[in-house]
Amino acid sequence: MTPSETTGSSGRRLETDPESFEAWGMNARCSAPVFRPGTVDELRDALRAAGDAGTAAGLRGAGCSYGDASLTTDGCIVDFRRWNHILSFDKQSGILVAEPGVTIEQVWREALPHGWWPPVVPGTMFPTLGGCLAMNIHGKNNFQAGTIGRHVRSFDLMLADGTVETCSEDTNQALFRAAIGGFGMLGAFTRIELQLKRVHSGDLEVQAHSCANLGEMVAHFEEQSESCDYLVGWVDAFGGGRGLVHQASYPKRGAVANPAETLEPSHQDLPPRFFGIIPRSWIWWGLWCFFHKPGMRIVNALKYRLGRRHAGRDPYRQSLVGFSFLLDYVPRWKHAYKPGAFIQYQTFVPKENAVATFEAQLRLCKEHGIVPFLGVLKKHLPDPFLMTHAVDGYSLALDLPLPRGGRERLWRLAHAMDDVVIGAGGRFYLAKDSTLTAEGFQAAYPPENLARFLELKRELDPEGLFQTDLSRRLLTPPE
Ligand SMILES: Cc1cc2nc3c(=O)[nH]c(=O)nc-3n(C[C@H](O)[C@H](O)[C@H](O)COP(=O)(O)OP(=O)(O)OC[C@H]3O[C@@H](n4cnc5c(N)ncnc54)[C@H](O)[C@@H]3O)c2cc1C
Repeated sequence: MTPSETTGSSGRRLETDPESFEAWGMNARCSAPVFRPGTVDELRDALRAAGDAGTAAGLRGAGCSYGDASLTTDGCIVDFRRWNHILSFDKQSGILVAEPGVTIEQVWREALPHGWWPPVVPGTMFPTLGGCLAMNIHGKNNFQAGTIGRHVRSFDLMLADGTVETCSEDTNQALFRAAIGGFGMLGAFTRIELQLKRVHSGDLEVQAHSCANLGEMVAHFEEQSESCDYLVGWVDAFGGGRGLVHQASYPKRGAVANPAETLEPSHQDLPPRFFGIIPRSWIWWGLWCFFHKPGMRIVNALKYRLGRRHAGRDPYRQSLVGFSFLLDYVPRWKHAYKPGAFIQYQTFVPKENAVATFEAQLRLCKEHGIVPFLGVLKKHLPDPFLMTHAVDGYSLALDLPLPRGGRERLWRLAHAMDDVVIGAGGRFYLAKDSTLTAEGFQAAYPPENLARFLELKRELDPEGLFQTDLSRRLLTPPE
């Protein structure tokens, strides 16, 4: 983008040069002028500058959303990563107050030595708290702990006009429940107060179980969800939906000989080398050799067979970080998709329709000749947030390769799957989305929720200051 293109509709130019931004799945990018505020006043100035120039402002945390949720073409980007201080942490109550750019990693490093852990974490530790609230993230404990929004005590939100509203379940409840999960459309989080979870050990007791198909896997989740803290299923899409479930529980108090040691970051840190020899940063090169259909068929089959051998054995100990952020073991693993890219397609389906819907999705993948390289099953709870993706049911996340020149075929597959999911009363997760249409979005959400959300958007942001490529794709009314 040339500097003249940074001029907004008012003809005024933003005094900042364009930079390039990419979706985490490397499937979309934009070039936009960027602001990096570090205070409330700097954020207000940035929003004012964007508004004066008549250009949209897209909010961005660590950019860990797989699709276009934090990209803004023809607008500017407000990047929160510099605004990243933990303002206070009460070791007795576990209440943490933080700036929006603080990451999940910063939170656990601060809190774990004192026996506290983030109540909900995604599969990577790099997202910011602002990004996590905007998408109302869920973890492998969603069936028990709910989404992160349930653990937010309060937040401050800067609206498009520069005013700051404090919101909680008791104050400004409607805005509290709409901005959490509101994908950065209603305002920018500037301060977040979070209740952390008490833990007595930095290790979990983990057990594996193998399942011959998705039906067995869901039945196993139903059986185990009362008795464990975390549940996650790995699904072999090449093998028709067979897979492995890993369930984990906090050890009983007193069951760990050296609990204080296990809480130390040095115990949690992922080892820098595999088998003490291969640097972790090299692993993606090895993966790259297998990142094609025949290679991934072999990798999935091997993983299933090896996993089955260990399944059903006594629980083993694994650190909270090792269990929670498995994907962080291999830095830059996504580069194994290069020179292509990938999308993640995650849908949430009510319990009674989950197995049939996910099986239909896998059949469609096969028919379209695009088999997911990775599938992950989780169990969920509904929550009170206006635009929540969570349902009383299950989600299946599928990593789908996007070969160069293969965009149209992959989008066709995603739209065919959308129809099945919508027919089953399911929803989509915008943090992972790249393909949903405005029609699909409208069909998937309760009309009264969507109408209320759009009404709030018009009321709080009448000029449409907050926009992203995702919001333009989903909120622009179909012709
Ligand atoms: C490897 C991997 C594993 C993942 N696993 C999970 C998982 O298990 N569960 C899960 O729920 N998610 C998961 N995610 C998705 C991730 O948690 C979400 O995309 C999260 O929103 C990323 O946070 P971010 O800081 O990177 O935000 P970004 O991706 O930069 O932005 C996300 C959204 O937040 C908005 N936003 C950013 N900052 C602010 C702010 N200060 N105020 C208001 N809005 C803001 C943006 O406009 C955008 O809409 C995973 C992602 C990766 C890469």
